[in-house]
Parts: sequence; structure tokens; C-alpha cells
Amino acid sequence: MDYAVQDYTDLYIGGKWRPGASGDRFDVINPATEEVLASVASAELADADAALNAAEDAFADWAARTPRQRSEVLRKAWELMTARLDEFAKLITLENGKAGNDARGEATYAAEFFRWFAEEAVRADGLITHAPSSGARIMVQHKPAGIAVLVTPWNYPAAMGTRKIAPALAAGCPVIIKPAGETPLTMLALMPLLEEAGVPKGLVNVLPTKHSGKLVDHLLHDPRVRVVSFTGSTGVGRKLLHSAADQVLKPAMELGGNAPLIVFDDADLDTAVEGAMLAKMRNLGEACTAANRFYIHESVADAFAEKFTAAMAKLKLGNGLELDVDVGPLVNRDTQQKVAEFVQDAVGKGAKITLGGTVPDGKGFFYPPTVMTDVPETADCVHDEIFGPVAALQTFSDTEDVIRRANDTEYGLVAYVFTEDMKRGLQVCEKLDYGMVGLNRGLVSDPAAPFGGTKQSGLGREGGHEGMLEFMETQYISASW
Ligand code: NAD
Repeated sequence: MDYAVQDYTDLYIGGKWRPGASGDRFDVINPATEEVLASVASAELADADAALNAAEDAFADWAARTPRQRSEVLRKAWELMTARLDEFAKLITLENGKAGNDARGEATYAAEFFRWFAEEAVRADGLITHAPSSGARIMVQHKPAGIAVLVTPWNYPAAMGTRKIAPALAAGCPVIIKPAGETPLTMLALMPLLEEAGVPKGLVNVLPTKHSGKLVDHLLHDPRVRVVSFTGSTGVGRKLLHSAADQVLKPAMELGGNAPLIVFDDADLDTAVEGAMLAKMRNLGEACTAANRFYIHESVADAFAEKFTAAMAKLKLGNGLELDVDVGPLVNRDTQQKVAEFVQDAVGKGAKITLGGTVPDGKGFFYPPTVMTDVPETADCVHDEIFGPVAALQTFSDTEDVIRRANDTEYGLVAYVFTEDMKRGLQVCEKLDYGMVGLNRGLVSDPAAPFGGTKQSGLGREGGHEGMLEFMETQYISASW
């Protein structure tokens, strides 16, 4: 079976495909060609109400199933998705632009959340113990929290959805997903697969829309909703936290990043370059985990820049559907323009370009792999997410100083450290105010690990053992017998 883009373009509510209350639609654009890929139904408030009703109807039965029954459905979803990785990868490339390897990597990662949470579904822990003084028993258990509203970004159209759907279903919660307007097709195409896996009607509902603000706000004000799980920019995350406050919803927020990548003088430079390539170029830099600021010890700065520039120069830019292409287009014109502005700003303030830096002519939102050295601390790209294939290199000489500079940001998602001295490496990791650190690794994402940030990078964790708890309430029973 091949998922053709026109196959699933309506809203998915209560296990049925619907055009939406107003009949309104919006276009999804292929970023490599600028052509319209599909016209997708746009959800209105009446559709949100229908999804809430469907989710409410599905809740009791799903919550009452045994963890093993829920686990088997999730396991089946993993098997089915794994059998169709190429089809999902193609769809991801078509709507997001990322090249084949990246898209296949995402599809694999996305499917793994079903496997991991199939395993976690049967491991929800609790506690029974004696109260120290009263003689009562303290019993603690976790229960499904209720309907969860999931809002996801365009950079990982499959994985940012499954990272939320799988733990929610494992916990016993129904969900309503609002995918990004740029990339709703992958999430819609996942629905027939979930049906085949045995997900009951109404448990998972998908509402693409042109009116994200109004629609999500409406959902978050319905008393049946208990969880809001968001991945996206810090600005939108703040707005959703305000809306969530009215009903005191459980929030899970995976927000922006500004990852530092530190290379010490004793680092294995080949390992550091390989890690830097992954940390910078996975998803062509359109990742919250993307290395944004490179701090290279001054004694190895020239050697690192030379090797890293050579590795970046080998990447082939083009339509991600072509087999030999390593780097596809950015997702849209705005992102392309923003990346170009970051480079112009840095160059204007004294940075030197060793590779790339020019928007190519022709169709598509392309930006070439770009390396800048001597980037001054005042450059905008040192303080904001570049979200593109641009590496901004700086130097350092003192360990305490580089830790201070790395922590000097409102973000705290992920940092990367390269050194052969494990004692120093671990000491530096502990001093970095980040939710995640890659030590001699440029890739930290793993379904089995708690993904998330400190400060304005978010609240809560996805994946790992923690991921399911975001969708559960803790209940304590004080009992005597
Ligand atoms: P975005 O915040 O613009 O959009 C994310 C989602 O929110 C989309 O579905 C969008 O339609 C929706 N949205 C936009 N305005 C809204 C509103 N007022 N109310 C409700 N929903 C609204 O982010 P983006 O541009 O799609 O993604 C890029 C950002 O996401 C980056 O900052 C990146 O770091 C972050 N991100 C974070 C993680 C993480 O795990 N921490 C992962 C991927 C992306």
C-alpha cells in the first residue's frame, strides 16, 4: 500500500473522515517545488466539539481495558508502521522537504514510540506502605488523566505526534491532535494504520485547521479536557500555558532551544566533527535539538573548522525525493528568509563565511549548508534559534567561561560536549543548565530517555518512564483495615 497524498485530507473525528463544518480548506505546499500537494479540510469550533464528544465516548472503555490490552494495540501500531516506513518517509519528504535518510530516520523514530510505550503500558508503578504514625496504609496509584489535546509542529510531522499519542494511549487517555498547518498529511495518514492496529473509534481525532489559536483555545476551555501537550515555539507555548491556567490543565511543553556545542582541546576531532554534523544537520537544522552555538577551544579551532567545513561541503542539496540528495529545502519561505537574515546579521557584525551563505536561484525554499567562523557574541544567531543549516563557530580558552557562555540563554533544552577526559566531561555536563546533554554524541533523542528542557525550553518530559506520567493523575488512598 502506498499513501497517496490525496487519500487522507479530511478531518478525522470519531473514526470517520469529514470535510469539516464550514467546508473550508487550505493548501499544503511541497517546499521543494512550491507546488500545491493537497487541499486539506480546516476544522472549525463545531468540529472541535464533535471531536470532544467522540473522545469522551471513547474514554471509559479504553481506560477500563487492561494495560496488556492497551499494550497489544500499541505494539501492533509499531509493527504496522515499521512495515510501511518507506511510505511514511515519502510523505514526510513531500510535505516537510527533509531528505530521504532524514525522513526514514524520523519514520523509524516515530514508530519506536509505539513500541516503547507498548512496553511501558504494563509497567505503571504504584506504592503501598504503612503511614509512619497514624497506622493507616498509604496507597498510591496512577490513573488516566482524561482527554488530552496535542499540538504539534511541522519539523517532525510524524514523531512529534507519536511521541504524544503513544504515551497518552498507554496511560488510557483519548486524544485530539492539532497538527501544524504546513504538515498535516503524515498525521492523517497514520489514522488508517491506528484503526488497523485496533485503536477504537474516537480515541484519536485529528483536526488540521487554519485557525489554530481559536480552535486550540476552545478545546482548552472545555471542562472535559485535562491535559495539554504542546511541541513548538516558546512564544506559542506561553500562550497555551495562559489558556491552560483557566482550567488548571496538566501542561507538557516541549519548546524552543539554543543548543551550545562545546569542543575541548583534547576532543577526538573526528568524533567531534561527526557529532557536530549530526547535531547541526539532522533535519537540516530545523530541530529544537540543533546545535546553534559552536564553542571550539582556540587551540583546535582552525583544525575543527577545516574538517567540519569539508564535511558540510560534501552534502548535496536538492529535492529530498532524489536518492543522492542529503539536504532538502527548508519548510517555507519565511524560514528561508529568517535563516538568510541570521547570516547577513552575523556577517555584518564581523563573522566570516567559509561555506555557503547564498540563497540559490530557482523554485523551492532551499538554503545551502553554511559555516561561519569568528561569529561575535552580539550576532542574533547566538541568542535565537537559527532553525536552518547554518553553523555559527566561536572560540573559547577557559572552561568556566565557556560554561557561563553556554548557560547564558533563556533556553535549556540540550547541550553537547566533546572531550576525551571523562572526569572533565561529566563535571561540565553537571554544570550545564540543560535538560539533556550529549557527551561525545551529537544525538540525544531516544524513545527510552526523558526528552525535555529546563527554563523556557519547557515543562515535563516525553519518552522514557516519565512520558506516560504526563498523561496520568496520581491518586492516594489512605486506608485502614
Ligand atoms: P509554532 O509554535 O509556530 O507551531 C507549533 C504548533 O502550534 C503548530 O501546530 C501551530 O499551528 C500551532 N500554533 C501556532 N499558533 C498557535 C496558537 N496561537 N494557539 C495554538 N496553536 C498554535 O512552532 P513551529 O514553527 O511549528 O516549530 C518550530 C518551533 O518548535 C521551534 O521553536 C522549535 O524549537 C520547537 N520545537 C521544539 C521541540 C521540543 O521537543 N522541544 C521539538 C520540535 C520543535
